[in-house]
Amino acid sequence: MFTVKQENFSSGRCKIETAVLKGVFILMRKLISITLVLFCLLLCGCSSVVATGQRELLGLTILIDPGHGDTDVGTIGVSTGAYEKDTNLQIAKKLKLALEEHGVIVLMTREDDNPLGPADETDLALRKEADMLEREKIISEAKANLLVSIHQNAYDEPDVKGPQVFYLQYNNKSYGVEFAKSLQNALNNGLKPDSPRNVGSGNWRLLKQGKQPGCIVECGFFSNPEEELLLQQDDYQNKIVEALVKGIETYVKKYGA
Ligand SMILES: [Zn+2]
Repeated sequence: MFTVKQENFSSGRCKIETAVLKGVFILMRKLISITLVLFCLLLCGCSSVVATGQRELLGLTILIDPGHGDTDVGTIGVSTGAYEKDTNLQIAKKLKLALEEHGVIVLMTREDDNPLGPADETDLALRKEADMLEREKIISEAKANLLVSIHQNAYDEPDVKGPQVFYLQYNNKSYGVEFAKSLQNALNNGLKPDSPRNVGSGNWRLLKQGKQPGCIVECGFFSNPEEELLLQQDDYQNKIVEALVKGIETYVKKYGA
């Protein structure tokens, strides 16, 4: 009997120990579950931070104007004789892709080198005027949030170089100054030119169209032998584009669009 009692007692302790073990096991499972949930939340939190950065420009419409085109070649590179119009289009297309990756709806005044006006117009001045009128129409009808016109600069002194952004100034009023500053800062930070430039202003015909802030981006000087070569390099063009996207993001974060 005693023995049985002992056995009973022993089996009772076993039951208690089993119950305790079960409790510990359940507790551990709960801890693992909580840890997993916390880990997932942390991951989701991190990815939502990334997504927020990507979302900054989501749904905006940005109009890109690759300067010149067709019979208007723009400035001509001092080292290679390259046409400004071609480099403008290359950079504009890269900018289009980069902005689309940020969820931007990108419109362009031109996507190739075809004339925007009548192709049979032989008078070059009239041909250019028809092109400009068509660009003005595209810009005013686009109702974009922002306008970026891509160009390459030229100057009499070959030493002059570096990117410069221009805003519109006419009738004693300035337009798009903060947008220009934001792009200029981003280009100066991204390209690190020897002598960083400040924004400039001008009475630009195309910037008068539409209600959106707009800028003329002179990516660099085709009259500087080294910079002309750089401006045609894929890597350098990518750096320009990266800087412009950052500049646009900074502007939109600060001022909206
Ligand atoms: Zn130009």
